[in-house]
Amino acid sequence: MNEKELAGRMLRVREEVAETAEKCGRAADDVQVVAVSKLHPGAAIWTVHTETGQIDFGENYVQEATAKQEELSTLNLRWHFIGGLQSNKAKYVAGKFALVHSVDSAKLATMLNRKACSLGVVQDILLQVNIAGEEQKSGVAEEGLNRLADEVAAMDGLRIQGLMTMPPFFDDPERARPVFAELRRLRERMAARMDMELPHLSMGMTGDFVPAVQEGATLVRIGTRIFGARPQK
Ligand SMILES: *Cc1c(COP(=O)(O)O)cnc(C)c1O
Repeated sequence: MNEKELAGRMLRVREEVAETAEKCGRAADDVQVVAVSKLHPGAAIWTVHTETGQIDFGENYVQEATAKQEELSTLNLRWHFIGGLQSNKAKYVAGKFALVHSVDSAKLATMLNRKACSLGVVQDILLQVNIAGEEQKSGVAEEGLNRLADEVAAMDGLRIQGLMTMPPFFDDPERARPVFAELRRLRERMAARMDMELPHLSMGMTGDFVPAVQEGATLVRIGTRIFGARPQK
């Protein structure tokens, strides 16, 4: 893909997300596109940023993300960690990402908190919920959410900013809508129960961002639609 084409795809996605938001009565800037750049080279991020001003980028793999952060350290980017994270790698993530979307266990939260505290920073995080109850998927089960939220809320180095989910893959994106609606309900209940602001709902990817925005997403994580098919890891 050449640079112009890549920039055009980024701009088109932002437009579609903004149009979808406005059509359902939301402000266009209520929804941020996180450009998911995993497995794509730093040069592609560089192009998207310099041609379109995009600053939010999502990465899944610690080593790859760290290498890109170093490579692109002169750019003012907001990095999002969106992938499954082993607690023994938490120390490489805390303090280095604007938002960690994938906190799903007390063990992982404890390790992120430990590192954040030692750096003297507060790490913004989302709790990832496994709504459809798929066995092999990451995310805390709905039944475990309150307990995890209470544990994380007690950690000085972490700040819960909302919830994230990844529905099963459906050919028809409408089938993901109930999952998105449920995540929004969970956030509302959790915000009321804990008496705290939970501004973010991270939901919606290339195939299903339209229903996600309609159901209240504030962060959509879009990769393929922008960068094209991913090279194999
Ligand atoms: C890869 C990935 C995405 C982006 O998926 P696309 O279908 O390429 O848009 C979004 N969220 C998570 C958690 C991912 O791992």
